[in-house]
This record gives sequence, structure tokens and C-alpha cells, in this order.
Amino acid sequence: MTLDVEKIRRDFPILSKLVYGKPLVYLDNAATSQKPRQVIQALVDYYEGYNANVHRGVHALSMESTERYEEARRKVAGFIGAPSPENLIFVRNTTEGINLAASSWGAANIGPGDEILVTEMEHHSNLVPWQRLAKAKGARMRFIPVTEEGTLDLSDLDTLLNHRTKLVAMTHMSNVLGAINPVKDIGAKAHAVGARILIDAAQSVPHMPVNVQDLDCDFLAFSSHKMLGPTGIGGLYVRSETLEKMEPFLTGGEMVLEVTYDYATWNDLPMRFEAGTPNIAGSIGLGAAVDYLESLGMEQVHRRERELTAYALDTLKELSEEFNFYGPTDLNARGAIVSFNSPDIHPHDLGTMLDQGGIAIRAGHHCAMPLIRDRLGVAATARASFYIYNTKDEVDLLKAALKDALRYFSKTLAPK
Ligand code: PLP
Repeated sequence: MTLDVEKIRRDFPILSKLVYGKPLVYLDNAATSQKPRQVIQALVDYYEGYNANVHRGVHALSMESTERYEEARRKVAGFIGAPSPENLIFVRNTTEGINLAASSWGAANIGPGDEILVTEMEHHSNLVPWQRLAKAKGARMRFIPVTEEGTLDLSDLDTLLNHRTKLVAMTHMSNVLGAINPVKDIGAKAHAVGARILIDAAQSVPHMPVNVQDLDCDFLAFSSHKMLGPTGIGGLYVRSETLEKMEPFLTGGEMVLEVTYDYATWNDLPMRFEAGTPNIAGSIGLGAAVDYLESLGMEQVHRRERELTAYALDTLKELSEEFNFYGPTDLNARGAIVSFNSPDIHPHDLGTMLDQGGIAIRAGHHCAMPLIRDRLGVAATARASFYIYNTKDEVDLLKAALKDALRYFSKTLAPK
């Protein structure tokens, strides 16, 4: 069964918007995705129908909102294959999930001389929290290098991983290169030396089947807003044996069982990690996004995006003299992200020009400054990133707009 893209597009009201009088071509999905009517409606239903605080009221509305909030947790936990909803902590986003792991687990388990292994392709979210922790604890950061092709160079992995390694924190899919990393294999090797593995799944959970039990990871973080859900909500999966020993991240209401003037005892899991009133509407909206993605099937989503990526790489190949394209050529090792750069046009100028034609791409360092600057050796790249509602026609429009930009910025280039 193939996905009916036209039908899918009708679910996304924003896709019929005109930008500067032109149909919107939204190719900035790695930054955030658009939202289907079903998700928007779930938010409206909550606020119109049963808005109340969760876990504390004895009245009907509160019981309904609590039930729907916990139902959302069950759906989201099921979506990533968590053994129990208790393993899923609702957080604001991937960034908060990783910071939670660094503060609650890292601070108690990383000490002087220990090593934290990350990759050279990390988003700042999965780099800065570990840098800060390493500095505070006298631990050492080590890096799995990136090859010229934009994949991980695993040739020294057996040396990089050693008895001092306490954590391997790595992205499942790079938001710049599109590379999908062999996190399961690396995780197995990390466990063999006694290290934990944290997966930054911000770019994988929205686009492909992800199962935390199959990956056998200790932590996995993701954001709702990149997977058709609302902003301000995301998930952190933590393996039970680790979660049970972790101290709370934030303290206050909701996360306690008993409080006196002198002490407090912690609530059950996962509430222990959800201090204060949570993002109730957001969680329910994320649950609706999961319903939507599951109705399509994540295998289908992944297959469709791979087709589109193959088409994009093939179509844009014609411009390979004018643009450098980054990321693996093997379609099994990459997702629906294409980063590129022209020596003659600054990515911001390119982004601005494409925007005039209604085409939204990203330009900049994509919150991966060390990768862009030190590894790729450029100040910025342009990035087109696709999702289930993008079409081959939109790829053609991108190519045509890039050719226009080349003509505009370099009058000497003959039109192809
Ligand atoms: N990790 C990766 C690989 C990302 O692409 C992003 C966002 O672009 C993040 C982490 C951070 O996500 P958020 O801003 O939702 O916390």
C-alpha cells in the first residue's frame, strides 16, 4: 500500500496557504513539522471540552483530563515500543529530555576521569549538556569522527569505547547530513564496556519505526513538534532499572508523595519527573499525532520519504557542479534531509530568495556549529527537509528555484 499524499495534504490546513502569492512549499520539516487538522482539533477539544488540571482534582473535568493525559502517555510509550507508560517522561522537547538525563543520571554517575562519548555530528542539544557536565565533574568528552561522506567513522570505536566510558550519547539521525547512525550496534558495544547509551531521536522518531526495546537503549529523547504534534511537549524514555535509581530533575508540586516543613518524599514513576502542571493539551495533541502517524504506518512513512529523498538527490544531481551536497549516498543510511552549499551564494541569501517563491528551507548552522564549521569547513549550509506531505513536484520547484538563484547571483552562469 502506498500513501495517498494528496489525501494527506488535505489534512494540513497550512499547506493551502499562499506565501507572497505563491503556494507554500514547506521544506523545513527538520526544524518543525506542520500539524494536521486532527492534532489541531484535539487541542481545541481539550480546551473547549475538558480543560482542567490533572492528577489532583476530584471533579469530573479533572478526572477526564487526567484520563486523557495518561491515555496520551500510553499511546506515545507504545509508539516507541516502551515496555510500560511509566518509562515515558513528558518533557518540553528533546533538549529538555537530554538535560534531564544529564542532571539526574549524569550528575550522579559521571565522575573525574570518566569519559562521555558523542559523535562529531551532534546537535547542540546533545553536546552542550554533556560538555557542561564533563567540565563540572572533571570528565572527558570524546568524539566518534565523521567521514568525508558524512557517516560515522567507526574504525577506532573499540579504542574510543573503554572501561572509562560511562555514556555514549548519539544522534539517531543527523539533522544536517541526514545520516542514520547504527545506534543499535554501537549501543551493544557500549553496553559491553559497561556504558549507558542515550539516543537523540529528534529526527528519527518522526520519520521511521523506532523501538526502544529493539534498540536496547537506556535513554531516548524526542520532540512532538517535529512529528506533527504541538510545540512544548516531547518525551524522554528511560530504562526502568536506570529510572528507578534517578533523583528528580525539578522539584515542587505533583512530583511528591508527602511533604513536611523538613522533608519530602518522591512520587511514583513517572510523575516523580514531572514537577508542576504539565503541558496537558500538548500531551493530548502529541497523542493525536501518534494516532495520525500510526494510521499511516511508520514503515510506509519511512518508505515514502526514502522515495522522495532518492528523487531529490537524483533531481538535484544536475546542480552538483554549482552546489556541494552533504550526507551519505546510500539511501539506506540516510533520511529525508538534503543539505547543500554553493561557494558563490551565501545560504541565507539563497534561503531569502527561495522564500520569495514560497519555498521554505533552512539556512544556517542548524544548531550543529562544530560539525558545520570544523568538520564541513563552512559557515553555514542550506537545508531542505521533507515529510509525508511533500511531493516530487515540490522537489522540481526547489530545483527550478535553485537554478533561478544561480542565474540571479551569477549572471555569467549560462541557464541549463
Ligand atoms: N537533536 C536533533 C538531532 C535535532 O534536529 C533537534 C532539533 O532540530 C534537537 C535535538 C533539538 O530539538 P528541540 O529543539 O525540539 O529540543
